[in-house]
Amino acid sequence: MKTLGMLGGMSWESTQTYYQLINRGVNRELGGLHSAKIILNSVDFEVIEKLQHRGDWERMGILLSDAAYSVEKAGAEGLVICTNTMHRLVPEISQNITIPILHIADATAQRLVADGMERVGLLGTAFTMEQEFYKGRLTDKFGLEVLIPNEVQCQKIHSVIYDELCLGITKETSRDYYSEVIRRFAEQGAQAVILGCTEIGLLISQAESVLPVYDTTRIHTEAAVDWMLKDDSNNMI
Ligand code: GLU
Repeated sequence: MKTLGMLGGMSWESTQTYYQLINRGVNRELGGLHSAKIILNSVDFEVIEKLQHRGDWERMGILLSDAAYSVEKAGAEGLVICTNTMHRLVPEISQNITIPILHIADATAQRLVADGMERVGLLGTAFTMEQEFYKGRLTDKFGLEVLIPNEVQCQKIHSVIYDELCLGITKETSRDYYSEVIRRFAEQGAQAVILGCTEIGLLISQAESVLPVYDTTRIHTEAAVDWMLKDDSNNMI
């Protein structure tokens, strides 16, 4: 088994899901008392969130590059960044380490393409939904047509993530709102919805969605387990 490095704490609510799913996945494959070899660097999200909303990506690039370097130094052989949004900094982080990164959007897109999906809706933070580092990658590298909610919906989806989900709060009204946005995607011809924020799976499951759900947290952790156990480097960059 290879040792996995994780950049977590963004937020810790979803990092604990990563930790659980990766350990369960390893144990499912190996049985007995086997568990995952993980080195986690979990950051203080208050600091990150302030920098995000100030637009200081340079400072965050330094912080996360240092964190990534620390897990490599500690013996990690590959890295997962446990947040979609902070994949914006993959170019900066990868310059600072020699171990490969398992990109969350690549793992998700590969699954969508394998399932024959072409037109998909994307839910995530405003950074993920509106900036090119994520949508652009899905389109340019994998040929997916990506729909995002309108501006008002994007703002609401974004604030539910920061004001509720990252604090472990799940509200029925927010669940209904997300379900409604997914229904709109379906009306626009989307064949699936990407839960492109690692906390959305805490709110929305397949039962609340009229479209097939592609939960990036689940997909990313499954790809991580494959990489750890099967020498599957398909998704690594
Ligand atoms: N975990 C979230 C994501 O997947 C949002 C928190 C963050 O900004 O990192 O994008």
